Amino acid sequence: MPRPKNNRIVHEPPLYSEFKPLGVPGVDLKRSKLSLDEFEAIRLADYNSYSHEEAAGEMGISRSTFSRLIEKARKKLAEFIIQGKLLTIDGGNIHFRNNIIRCESCGYMFKTNINASFAECPNCKSTRLVNLAGGFGHGICCTESNHKKGGYYATRRQNRPKGRGSNDR
Ligand SMILES: [Zn+2]
Ligand SMILES: [Zn+2]
Repeated sequence: MPRPKNNRIVHEPPLYSEFKPLGVPGVDLKRSKLSLDEFEAIRLADYNSYSHEEAAGEMGISRSTFSRLIEKARKKLAEFIIQGKLLTIDGGNIHFRNNIIRCESCGYMFKTNINASFAECPNCKSTRLVNLAGGFGHGICCTESNHKKGGYYATRRQNRPKGRGSNDR
């Protein structure tokens, strides 16, 4: 299958990136990886109940691409709960639209634009901040991607012209 050239848009980073069955050592479990675009597909279609059409628009991909993506993601989740696997969320051909910052001192989490930077926690003034997008190896790349697409919310809820973008098939 040819790899899509365009990056898919993921609204914001996942809060948790590792899941495992209780009481079984990780080394004894098969590993499964849900890519960030598969995670986003589950979030949009199954958590937020978007139609495939709407979800595809949010991610900047075609509806048929979205339908294949969600099928793969659901299969992985089904295997995870039925077979008991160690599931990690990471990777994928994506950029984030927004970011989440977590304070290690007080646990406060706040959502921001992908390009915003914070020196201290707005809640407790601690400087022990974790940048969730950064943890997935994203940040500046996402800012640039957002700019290229004409601004942070340019692609939101807007039908992208057909024929543009090469990841539509
Ligand atoms: Zn704090
Ligand atoms: Zn990025």
